[in-house]
Amino acid sequence: MDIKVTLNPNPAQKPDPSTLGFGKIFTDHMFMWSWNSEKGWYNPRIVPFQRLSIHPASTVLHYGSEIFEGLKAYRRADGKVQLFRPIENIRRMNNSAERLCLPQMPEEDFMQALKEFVKLEEDWTPSAPGTSLYLRPFMFGNDESLGVHAVHNAEFIIIASPVGSYYKEGINPVKIMIEDQDVRAVRGGTGYAKCGGNYAASNRAGERAEQQGYSQVLWLDGVERKYIEEVGAMNVMFKISGTVVTPMLSGSILPGVTRKSIIDVLKKEGYKVEERLLSVDELAQAMADGTLEEAWGCGTAAVVSPIGELCYKEHKYIVNNGEIGALTQHLYDTLTGIQWGKVEDTFGWTVEI
Ligand SMILES: *Cc1c(COP(=O)(O)O)cnc(C)c1O
Repeated sequence: MDIKVTLNPNPAQKPDPSTLGFGKIFTDHMFMWSWNSEKGWYNPRIVPFQRLSIHPASTVLHYGSEIFEGLKAYRRADGKVQLFRPIENIRRMNNSAERLCLPQMPEEDFMQALKEFVKLEEDWTPSAPGTSLYLRPFMFGNDESLGVHAVHNAEFIIIASPVGSYYKEGINPVKIMIEDQDVRAVRGGTGYAKCGGNYAASNRAGERAEQQGYSQVLWLDGVERKYIEEVGAMNVMFKISGTVVTPMLSGSILPGVTRKSIIDVLKKEGYKVEERLLSVDELAQAMADGTLEEAWGCGTAAVVSPIGELCYKEHKYIVNNGEIGALTQHLYDTLTGIQWGKVEDTFGWTVEI
C-alpha cells in the first residue's frame, strides 16, 4: 500500500510531560483511508491533523455506525518506540466492523498504516514514567443519505495523543457500585464489538455511580442481571481462594487485549485461571466469607485497576482492606514491564517501530 504523506507545515510544540492528561492533545498528523463499496479501500494518506467535514445526513450522525480501537506506543529506556500486540487490535477491529456492517481491512495494510503513522509521529511519544502515545484508530459509516442499510461509504482514521501516567498519585483502589438496573450489552447485541454506541448506553449508570461516590459500575448480564460481565469499560477479574476467575467471553463482553495477556501471564506462571460464568451471588458469598482475596479491572488505559470496595444493593464490601493485592501489583509490574521494555518479552508481544 502506498501511503501519500502531506507534512504539517506548522508542527506544534511538544507538551510538557507533567501536563499530560488523557486524549486532550493531539499530534501533528492523522492517517486517513476511504472506502466505497464499489472501489473498496482507496486513498490511504497521512495529512496534517485537521477537522473533518461531513454531510449532515452522514450515517454515523444518525445511526451510530462507528467502531474504534485503543492501543499505545511505548518509549523504551533505549529510546526506541514499540507497540504491544497490535495484531490483536487489528483483528478485533475487523470483528467489530463485521458486527456493524462496516468494511474489513486487510491486516497487513492496517499494520503498515499503524507503523508508518507512529514512525512519523515518533517524537510525540513521551518518555516520562507511565506516559505513552495513545493511538485511536476509528471507522465510521459515511453515506450522505438517511436510508437505513449497511453503508456504501466509510472512513478509517488514526489519530494519536500523548497521554500521562494513569497513576500519577500511585495506584489507588477504586470503589465500584454493582449496577442492577441498566445493562451495558446483551448477547446477540454489540457487547463484543468496540463501538461508540456501547459507550453512549453506559454513561447513565456511570454518572449515577459517580454521584454516589463510586468510580464506576460493575455490569451484570442483560437477561437475568445475575452474572458479572465487566467493570466500567474494563474487563474484570477476581482472585477467589487462590484461583483467578474472570467472566467468560459470552458475546456481551469485550475481549480485551489486557485480559487476554493477563490470562497468558497467569497460566505461564502456573496460576489457576477460570473463564466461566460468575454470579453476583457467588461473588457476594466470597466477599462475605472472606475468600475473595483480590479484585481488579483491566484494560489498556490503566493496565490494572484494583477494586477496594464493592457495593451491592446497599451492602458495602471491602476487598483486601481497600489495598492493592500482591497479585494485582505483580500483574501490573509484569505487563507494564513488557510494554515499556523493562522486562524481557518472552511472549513475542512487542513490535518495534
Ligand atoms: C476497550 C475495552 C476493554 C479493554 O480492552 P483492552 O484491549 O484491554 O484495552 C474492556 N471493556 C470494554 C467495554 C472496552 O471498550
